[in-house]
Amino acid sequence: MKIENTLEEFESLGDEHIGTSTNTPIRKDAFKLSNDEKIDVIKDDVRHIMETLGLDLTDDSLNGTPLRVAKMFVKELFAGLNPDKKPSASTFENKYKYGEMLVEKNISVYSTCEHHLLPIVGKAHVAYISNGTVVGLSKMNRIVDYFAKRPQVQERLTIQIVKELQDVLKTEDVACVIDAKHLCVNSRGIKDIECSTVTSEFGGKFKEKETRREFLDYIKLDTKF
Ligand SMILES: [Zn+2]
Repeated sequence: MKIENTLEEFESLGDEHIGTSTNTPIRKDAFKLSNDEKIDVIKDDVRHIMETLGLDLTDDSLNGTPLRVAKMFVKELFAGLNPDKKPSASTFENKYKYGEMLVEKNISVYSTCEHHLLPIVGKAHVAYISNGTVVGLSKMNRIVDYFAKRPQVQERLTIQIVKELQDVLKTEDVACVIDAKHLCVNSRGIKDIECSTVTSEFGGKFKEKETRREFLDYIKLDTKF
């Protein structure tokens, strides 16, 4: 009975996608094992899951799956857990004295829902107003990708991107909007294939109505090349 109650609570927490913290909950010993050691442990765990499901792992098609999944978890999907992978914070002086907002829109987001370990796929739109420092354009894509490569909730991802850019650019004037599909909603549970989730975080001047409006208008521009 107790276990069933807890399971129900877990399931509703997951299906409601309630996050609990701005920082990714990471254990103190998260990097005690090397990547190779982690892959070695995880491949046995994946094998165990597959065998428990009744799959025959001697089949040629399934044989390599545990190692493949373990490598994918550690080196790709969740590589952004490791602070060493954080994009370097190289910035430049704003030589043109460009004082308007800069918007990088339609940045691809590939992340993973931390409640179901299913993909989150979408677009991020990031903007800042320089107060003397600028970053290379691709830096914004890299920052989005770094924080996306973790088990995530979309709200946290949005906040983490803004906080990081605020740190790097030394200004509060940073904003981010993410529009993404969660496969745990689209392909299971409620199975609503059409719906997507929009989250936003507005810092500094972007909290002001007009600045926010301008940013949101740029996002709506239908750029075709
Ligand atoms: Zn989910």
